[in-house]
Amino acid sequence: MSQEFTRRRFLATVAVAVPAGAVLMNVVTANAADLPILEVTDPSAKALGYVTDAKNVDRKSPLAARFVDGQHCANCQLIQGKDGEVHRPCAIFPGKQVAAAGWCSAWAKKA
Ligand code: SF4
Repeated sequence: MSQEFTRRRFLATVAVAVPAGAVLMNVVTANAADLPILEVTDPSAKALGYVTDAKNVDRKSPLAARFVDGQHCANCQLIQGKDGEVHRPCAIFPGKQVAAAGWCSAWAKKA
């Protein structure tokens, strides 16, 4: 195999792979934005004491035993999506978006 052939093959692969990757990223991003918003009445949300605003955490609840002021979804290790968005996907609630200002008892400090 000549070097020229290998180079052409590499360039052809890149020419196909880069646009395909860009299309895939757009699909993933578009899908995330289309996900329904998690309701606080959702049984899985209730089970973890989810609130849409960390200011409303019930500090008397055992679920809030580890809650500290300043914790919210946007600074949680489990948040997904883009910084700055009001609602974002969360690894704990697959298929739903949570409020960036929210909180639940699964909150974990970003590494
Ligand atoms: Fe918010 Fe983190 Fe709980 Fe997800 S796991 S709802 S990002 S606090």
